[in-house]
This record gives sequence, structure tokens and C-alpha cells, in this order.
Amino acid sequence: MDNEGKCSILIVDDEQSNILVLKKILSPEYTVFTAKSGEEVPERLRKNIPDLILLDLVLPGIDGFEVLRRLKEDPETMNIPVIIISGLEDETDEEKGLLMGAVDYIIKPFKHTIILARVKTHLQIVRQIRMIERLGLVDPLTDIANRRCFDDRIIIEWRRAQRGHKPLAFLMMDIDKFKNYNDTWGHPQGDALLKSVARVFSAAARRSGDLAARIGGEEFGLLLADTDLDAAIKIAEDIRVHVEQMIVPTADGKTETRVTVSIGAASCRPGSDIQIADFILTADRFLYKAKASGRNQVCWK
Ligand code: GH3
Ligand code: MG
Ligand code: MG
Repeated sequence: MDNEGKCSILIVDDEQSNILVLKKILSPEYTVFTAKSGEEVPERLRKNIPDLILLDLVLPGIDGFEVLRRLKEDPETMNIPVIIISGLEDETDEEKGLLMGAVDYIIKPFKHTIILARVKTHLQIVRQIRMIERLGLVDPLTDIANRRCFDDRIIIEWRRAQRGHKPLAFLMMDIDKFKNYNDTWGHPQGDALLKSVARVFSAAARRSGDLAARIGGEEFGLLLADTDLDAAIKIAEDIRVHVEQMIVPTADGKTETRVTVSIGAASCRPGSDIQIADFILTADRFLYKAKASGRNQVCWK
């Protein structure tokens, strides 16, 4: 899906006339990409992961079934719905395609309205699945990633760092004396503050491998891809200063409230000699050291 929420569709067909007809039907509503052979598909997918694929079965080189098999085998593409559009009327082909994981099978020649209707239905399902996934991975109060999302992502980033021999950094942040804040200003004001702190924290997640998450009540974790300890400390210090200078007015606008945060920082080169749990524990230990040393500071050793 692009920035405007427009879904993208990849058409895999070797016949220019078919591509032109499908493009004409779909282009007004969707962003359309094309591949003229099965061999071209991986190259297309490297540039852009579509929301839906329309797949012809008879292709030069590897056929549509083989393209489908490869799509379903790859974790990156296995969830893209594939609609087969085929001149093969044999029911065994339809059965084979559906059993291999295609969501639909349309026989050529097709009616334009039927193509549009089926595409629309499957894209609606895609949107609904994404919404459900999002609900499970986003913290409803702060609108940043939740614990579950963090637990999933750290495994992915850990492996990525390991493969690329890159460092991975992690900041564990906790609001100082937040219980006092709640007791003084009330729980709804505490919620407002959590949202403001979360905004500062998530603004520090700038690159695609970075992730800011609400790990617990007033505890946040920031995963920083390809980041060594020095760079992580700088980012942590920026966050600390930013929060220290932040003013959150009370709901009636009469009082300006402030808080501070403590941060534990760690960075490592993921390998067989260190476990994810130990890595998190290191940042956690430094966070508690920051608390014990007077709060409003970053600790890394
Ligand atoms: P420290 O500096 O040692 O971290 O002290 P603290 O008071 O921040 O830590 P403590 O763990 O004693 O208290 C955490 C508080 O965070 C208590 C809890 O009510 C509050 N809290 C947790 N989740 C939420 C939330 O969603 N909203 C609000 N308003 N408060 C929350
Ligand atoms: Mg706290
Ligand atoms: Mg706490």
C-alpha cells in the first residue's frame, strides 16, 4: 500500500494484450506493476511487495504453478494473496492452484466487472488482516509498538545484525518517580504524560530497523539497528535532555508539569556467545544503576 493508501497489484502475464486489458481495468483504482515471465517476479518483488498478485499459469520458462510454489515458500511473500487468471479450463488445474494456496481462480476470457469485484474482495480481506495484526502489536494508549511487537522484532533484528556482522543497540528507559506524578496530578494526566514521552522516544527511532516500544507501564525500549555503544549513548542522552526540557501542561492549562527519565544503554555484536535475554538484561541493569545513581541520567557501564 502506498502513502495515499492505494493498494498495489502485480500482474504476471506473458501476453501484452492481457496486461493492457488488466491494466486498463485496475489502474484507475490501484497501482499496477507487471512481470512478463516467472523469472522476472523476484526482481519485481525486490523493488516492491504488492498487496495482491494476478498470476497467469501458462508462461515461458517457469510456469505459474512454480511461481506460486516459490511465492508460498518465501516468508516475505507467502501472505500475498494470489489470484490465478488462466486460460486453462481444466478443473484439475483450478484444484491444483487453490490447493497450492491461490485465493481465487478466474478463467479467461473474463468479465471486467468480475475481475474488479474479486480483486476488491481480496484486498478488503488484506486490509482487515492488517488491521487485526496492528491491533495486536500497537499499544492503544501511546500508539507505539507494544511488548509483543518488540519481542517479535528483537529476534528479527538480532538475526539481521548477526548475518550482517553489525552491532545492535538497545535502550531501556523508565520515567522517574512516575508514581508521584500520578499521585500529584491524577491518572489521566499521567496518561497524557506517557503519550508525550512516547512521542519523544519514538522520534528517536529514525531508521527502518529501529523500533520504539512500550515495554511495560512506564517503561520503554528502543532497538537501534547497526548502532554501536557510542552512538546509542548519544541518542539516549538526546532523549533524556529532550524529556527534561519538555513541558506537559495540565488539562486545565493552568500548570506546567515536567518529568525526567533514566536510561540504560547496551550494544553488542550478536553472535553465538550472547543471548537476547542477556542483552536485554544488560540494558536493564544499567537502567537500575541510573536509578540508583540519582535518576535523570544515562548509564552504560
Ligand atoms: P522510579 O523512579 O524508581 O521508576 O519510580 P516510579 O514511581 O516511576 O516507579 P514505580 O514502579 O514505583 O511506579 C510506576 C508507576 O507507573 C505506578 C503506576 O501507577 C504507573 N503507571 C503504570 N502504567 C500506567 C498507565 O498506563 N497510566 C498511568 N497514568 N500510570 C501508569
Ligand atoms: Mg519509573
Ligand atoms: Mg517502573
